[in-house]
Amino acid sequence: MALRLFNTMSSRIEEFHPLRDHEVRMYACGPTVYDYGHIGNFRTFIAVDLLRRVFRQSGYAVRHVMNITDVDDKIIRNAARDGVSVQQYTAKYEKAFLEDAAMIAIEEPTLVRATEHIPEMAAFVAALVEKGIAYRTDDGSYYFHIAKFPQYGKLSKKDFSGMLDGARVDVDEYDKDSARDFALWKAPKPGEASWDTAIGPGRPGWHLECSVMSMEELGETFDLHAGGEDLIFPHHENEIAQSESLTGKPFANFWFHARFLLVEGEKMSKSLGNFFTLRDLVLQGHKPSSIRYLLTSVPYRNQLNFTFDGLKQAAVSVERLRNFRSRLTTGNFAPGSSPEMQALAAQTIDRMKSALDDDLNTAQAQAAIFEMVRQANASLDAGGVKRDDIPSLLAALTRFDEIFAVLDDDDGPKMKRVFDWAVSEGREKDVSEELRAAIQSAQLSDVDIEKKIEEIKTARVGRDFKASDAIRAELSEAGILVEITKDGIRWRRK
Ligand code: AMP
Ligand code: ZN
Repeated sequence: MALRLFNTMSSRIEEFHPLRDHEVRMYACGPTVYDYGHIGNFRTFIAVDLLRRVFRQSGYAVRHVMNITDVDDKIIRNAARDGVSVQQYTAKYEKAFLEDAAMIAIEEPTLVRATEHIPEMAAFVAALVEKGIAYRTDDGSYYFHIAKFPQYGKLSKKDFSGMLDGARVDVDEYDKDSARDFALWKAPKPGEASWDTAIGPGRPGWHLECSVMSMEELGETFDLHAGGEDLIFPHHENEIAQSESLTGKPFANFWFHARFLLVEGEKMSKSLGNFFTLRDLVLQGHKPSSIRYLLTSVPYRNQLNFTFDGLKQAAVSVERLRNFRSRLTTGNFAPGSSPEMQALAAQTIDRMKSALDDDLNTAQAQAAIFEMVRQANASLDAGGVKRDDIPSLLAALTRFDEIFAVLDDDDGPKMKRVFDWAVSEGREKDVSEELRAAIQSAQLSDVDIEKKIEEIKTARVGRDFKASDAIRAELSEAGILVEITKDGIRWRRK
């Protein structure tokens, strides 16, 4: 069965087929780097990361491009407020964004920056003017004449036929009700960053950036364009209008939009005190893997209600998967294989694939792996798992982790980096006891711990239980829990 995805353009779930065999070309709108990213932003970026991983698992080579919006109204305002250049202002937040994305295992796309493509943007505007679709106003700004693109509104399904021709809007973000000719290029204003170009001085509008850079990197028509649901209008509608009126070709085949994240049932906002950046959560002691797991646990087209209970549950789920894997890799098993375990592993791989093919039903894919863990654990307890079953069960876990990316325990070092950042920013007071404890347990590397486990084994073989208990206590002190079972010795970080 082929991968099926919801296409905002057709409002239907469609079979996905790329324009070129074996290769997917996708573009995702990236962050506006004017502040630290919040968990809502990362819900969308993780949804896109997951999609990219599913494409790859489906056998496609993926070309994934993402822009960094490093000039827009908000950035210019904040840079002016702080008395620094746009470049100085954005560098800090771009770095933070890339660190945060890596922290929750988002694979890095090909990044393109608005300020590195200014001449191409000016040329794009000139070409639209040449075609009679854009016009210049007296101050030297350029606007897109939306009456010249009769399909305007086809993505957001809004009827703009009654709107006032020629009315203009020059802010980057605006409501559906104020569909107007929008700014492609903004004339310089005192104190604002501006570039000298063939169409005069000024700076690009936000919508123009994405049209120019996506087509430059991926061609005039590419497979899929992604973003959060708030981008459907005006941003993506405007991208379509600019691009298609210039090329006369469809811009993107699929439009993929992730629904918004709510916190404890409410819209995130600073005034409600429920606004969290990724770093805020880590400072509270939550692991990056728990955050990733929670953000992937609700299919991208359903609203995700972020709760702290949910985050704790996610941590338990990740732990359960890691323990199961360690049970498989450290246990001693009788030779042979069991038909039930072989069938279970194969069925789990099939169930995960069907779930993900069904418009990325991540909840069902996770349910499939947990069903396998439940059944295999019961069988392990009863001695029903044989040596040749291990690679099959591990293969199912690996397929799962190629998409969800939570099995490898690298939370400790990542949390340490957030701690170091907090110290360097003078925010040590925001570091919770939980974060301090987590960092302490991460001081011992996996290799160090394995060495200690070997020492325990040797002591036990020599029936020196006093020594073995002492090493266990030492590990416990450092936040490592050691379990001695009949299958062998397992450990995990508390
Ligand atoms: P921005 O940095 O504001 O340009 O947003 C970056 C991405 O995050 C865009 O794709 C937005 O649609 C998305 N986004 C913003 N807020 C939320 C939210 N609460 N839930 C999900 N996605 C969001
Ligand atoms: Zn965009």
